[in-house]
Amino acid sequence: MNNMKRIVILLSTVLVMASCSALKNVQLDSEALGSAAAKTLTAVSISDADIVALSAESVAYMDSTNKVLTSGAYAERLARLTKDIQVDGLQLNFKVYETEEINAFACGDGSIRVYSGLMDVMDDDQLIAIIGHEIGHVVHKDTKAAMKRAYMSSAARDAVGSVGGLVQTLSSSVLGDIAENFVSAQYSQKQEFNADAYGFSFAVNNNHDKYSMYRALNKLTDMNGGSTMSKVQKWFSSHPDSGERASRVKAMADSLE
Ligand SMILES: [Zn+2]
Repeated sequence: MNNMKRIVILLSTVLVMASCSALKNVQLDSEALGSAAAKTLTAVSISDADIVALSAESVAYMDSTNKVLTSGAYAERLARLTKDIQVDGLQLNFKVYETEEINAFACGDGSIRVYSGLMDVMDDDQLIAIIGHEIGHVVHKDTKAAMKRAYMSSAARDAVGSVGGLVQTLSSSVLGDIAENFVSAQYSQKQEFNADAYGFSFAVNNNHDKYSMYRALNKLTDMNGGSTMSKVQKWFSSHPDSGERASRVKAMADSLE
């Protein structure tokens, strides 16, 4: 079963890579045509409202295809850690997925999902820092762009003209592709550094150790390459350069009073 899961992850990574060429093709077409109309066509194919709806639908899809733990040690620990957390402009909701994958993600609708595999290897401080990092991607609108890319790389992008009722027109397999692409979204190094800085402040502001983000990144770096590699590969493929990033957040912590 785990092998199946990994195969699915590999496939979704391939889809993300394929999406790059698909996006390039869209841009080349627009350039070749050189017309505002072509650009408008690309732009209207997914609106901000569609992105919000897609985010909520993607989370609903992920919730329905993962085992959500609503009671027990994992759920209680996450609830205890997050009960006082607030972020301006976001209606946060937290859930645990039971899976050995080491991952977590946040969506533009304020949904935060934490995998039990991540909770197994991180202490409370490290876990809060990683959650903060993921929320940072939402606050910085990285997830909005990622959701748009996930949509544009799916079969749904051919459904131009369904603006407004976009989500209702998507089949569950297309929605699944979008959700998988979103969860394994690639962010730029700059986006990662900024999300780390957010995670660093997030941990400190929520009364956790100032080295929380540093220790979380160090932990992931240590695990990468060892026997646990396959379990962290997903987080690493979407969050590269953890060694370099760890030293940056350590400097932030060192200089904090
Ligand atoms: Zn990240």
